[in-house]
Amino acid sequence: MPALPQHGYANATGAAPLPQRILLVENSRTFTGLLREAIEQRLELPVSVVSSLAEAGQLLDQRQDWFLVLTGLVLADGDRDTVVDFFVDRGLPTVVVSGVYDEDLRKRVLERTIIDYVLKNTPGSVDYLVWLVQRLERNRRIAAVVVDDSPSARGYAAALLRMYGHQVHEAADGEQGLAAIEANPSIRLAIVDQEMPGMQGVEFTRRLRMHRSRDTVTVIGLSGNTDPSLIPRFLKNGANDFLRKPFSREEFFCRVSQNVDQLELIGTLQDLATRDFLTGLPNRRSFLEQSEHHLGLLPTTGAWVAVAMVDIDRFKHINDTWGHDGGDQALRAVAATVAAHAREQDLACRFGGEEFCLLVPGLAPQDAQRYFERLRQAIAALHIELPGSTLRLTASIGVCCLRPQSDSLHELITEADRQLYLAKANGRDRVHCAPHDDATTPLTVASL
Ligand code: GH3
Ligand code: MG
Ligand code: MG
Repeated sequence: MPALPQHGYANATGAAPLPQRILLVENSRTFTGLLREAIEQRLELPVSVVSSLAEAGQLLDQRQDWFLVLTGLVLADGDRDTVVDFFVDRGLPTVVVSGVYDEDLRKRVLERTIIDYVLKNTPGSVDYLVWLVQRLERNRRIAAVVVDDSPSARGYAAALLRMYGHQVHEAADGEQGLAAIEANPSIRLAIVDQEMPGMQGVEFTRRLRMHRSRDTVTVIGLSGNTDPSLIPRFLKNGANDFLRKPFSREEFFCRVSQNVDQLELIGTLQDLATRDFLTGLPNRRSFLEQSEHHLGLLPTTGAWVAVAMVDIDRFKHINDTWGHDGGDQALRAVAATVAAHAREQDLACRFGGEEFCLLVPGLAPQDAQRYFERLRQAIAALHIELPGSTLRLTASIGVCCLRPQSDSLHELITEADRQLYLAKANGRDRVHCAPHDDATTPLTVASL
């Protein structure tokens, strides 16, 4: 799979589907209508609405795909305490959405294992709830580690994070914490206590940052110590944030969520900068950067590397016949085929328009024709279903194999492009490989 280090190919996720359905329990029709519409339209998550505990119980028994409950506190068949107990006792992540602000009530409700207490009649409450639902939905794909030598403090933070949907690892010291992050690339959040025997939190953070940047794993330092130099030490050694113990659950949730939001935002910006929007493949710039890096790592003699330029045949005609949307769908289908063909070590990109480029390390000239012939055939075998009929297409592929000099990427691409031109000139729907010298001496571009 032609994956960038941290973000997989957008259309190729193999993970099992997570429960998605939200239960909205409320007797105010206006509010439930607004909230339901906002969640369904903005987040594309299914919502079921009921107005009593009896109805809620029936629905919960009927389906298994519940992810979250948003509930009011005053229902025809339940009051504050019974409502919260009803959902919490069933082990459902629960958010209370209340029409009244009452400090005592808020405290009492927050003592229970609910995620949040949200006032519904404030400006922005629907937006906040939509954000909250989205945060909780996404948290399930972000694992966390809590590094703390105190079992009770560790267990408390871990239980909160689990309630917010994270998968949580627990580590009793810094070494264990580093090992957990090393072994689990899905860990993107570390909550780290400062006072630990052996490695302290600041030192843990410093060591983690040697191989995990601030935008891959977010670190929140914790300490009850009031030493004013501690926060800057944490931050200067790479922590993203700091929380003073004891913290309230609400503060913990806000800080964690903000930091995870930021982590995702950076990921989105990186994706926007490095991926092609239409196909999800890396774009040309990111491909060139990665290929340069890759070639730089190869020994200057020895291993072969192939570059292939793949160009859809008569694509202008496809656009003319099927419209731009049909053309776009064809591009996505070809991109998915290119991505599926590429092995783990290959790099693939949308080079521009209807052109794709692959860099294939370790592919010798005698194997290149066969390797790309399979890709050509897979493209020619595509049946792209469009309204009313099926689009078929072909592509031409130009290939160049080389034992590279570290500065030969440009030459490789130029030669692959020349071969592509020859494939087109010779009738299209074919693979054209540059002739090569079979001698054991390394090829240079000049000898091609
Ligand atoms: P050849 O077989 O010689 O490659 O002919 P061709 O028509 O495929 O090549 P040409 O380069 O003349 O045309 C490419 C077309 O691809 C022109 C352009 O409008 C279209 N195109 C480029 N980017 C996109 C896109 O993102 N979506 C769609 N639908 N079309 C695109
Ligand atoms: Mg073209
Ligand atoms: Mg073309």
